[in-house]
Amino acid sequence: MTALPPGSTIGILGGGQLGRMLAMAAAQLGYRCHIYAPDKESVAAEVAAEFTCAEDHDITALRQFAGSCDVLTFEFENLPVAPLAEIDGLAPLYPPVKALDIAQNRIAEKEFARVHGGTTAAFAEVTDLESLEQAIEKIGTPAILKTIRMGYDGKGQARIKPGDSLAPHWETVGHQPSVAEGFVTFSHEFSVILVRGQDGSICYWDTPHNIHEDGILAQSLVPAPAEIVEQQEKARALASKMAHAMGYVGVLTCEFFATADGPVFNEMAPRVHNSGHWTIEGAVTSQFENHIRALTGLPLGDPGLAADHVAMDNLIGGTADQWQALLADPANHLHLYGKGESRPGRKMGHVTKLFF
Ligand code: AMP
Repeated sequence: MTALPPGSTIGILGGGQLGRMLAMAAAQLGYRCHIYAPDKESVAAEVAAEFTCAEDHDITALRQFAGSCDVLTFEFENLPVAPLAEIDGLAPLYPPVKALDIAQNRIAEKEFARVHGGTTAAFAEVTDLESLEQAIEKIGTPAILKTIRMGYDGKGQARIKPGDSLAPHWETVGHQPSVAEGFVTFSHEFSVILVRGQDGSICYWDTPHNIHEDGILAQSLVPAPAEIVEQQEKARALASKMAHAMGYVGVLTCEFFATADGPVFNEMAPRVHNSGHWTIEGAVTSQFENHIRALTGLPLGDPGLAADHVAMDNLIGGTADQWQALLADPANHLHLYGKGESRPGRKMGHVTKLFF
């Protein structure tokens, strides 16, 4: 395997904070990044060598972009898959489009996990009010209704309680094709974050305990408590099977619920993930650097812990305005994403603290 030499160009589809942190890690290794994103306000483009601002469906722009890069990746999971076929062969694209395809469909990803021996919440497809009624009859309440596509951070979701009338919930998901999921009783949430190299080797970061508020990740803590650690092996085995089956290259994140019956797979993200932001300072090699190493064919770096404990807090909405107070603690590692306006629920930055 020949590694891409420093000075090569990595194309990143998507222009948000994940692209920004990938570009910063790539720059450290001497690579140039070219960002492709539809929005001219791109926090990734601000730290990259080149920027193409064009629509995801603009085949001419996509081909030109891909032709100018040595390797391609994406940081945005809802990227339309069909146009990517048009750039096939212009430069290698990692992770594979198959991973994007599966992750964009909540039913496909649950079925994929089940085929590889994973446990998921009970679920049923919903296409109209009648199938929602049938789904709830089958899986019971409480339940969660999620759009099959385009949902993230709790968006496009309705929580159904016993006795609820179903029409308003169908309204909440905008009458979109959805999946009704049985409510999982869990003690903790955690994620398996792995990187798979081009040679098929896999390494894992320590498993973070993830705390969500209103469906959005609020905090990741490492090491995780015993209730998670004892489920880690089974969860890792599933994630690695899925990664091998997809011929995956790069960072893959799988989110799980820790339950009395073992790990329950929730969803996967075929990319670097918010629950891995702690790895920038908290691990010997960050998820961003190892993703770049995997794409470019460099040897993977050590994912081991760099402290006894690590805590990552997301700065959501107005909390990022406290940047001065946060910096008053000299041990805080502050990351601001350069987004102008803070809106409720918007991820503006994060802060990581190491404990020894
Ligand atoms: P998701 O968009 O699937 O990641 O869901 C966002 C958050 O909602 C999760 O991190 C959980 O806290 C909660 N959640 C999602 N699905 C379920 C479920 N089936 N049972 C219980 N809680 C859930």
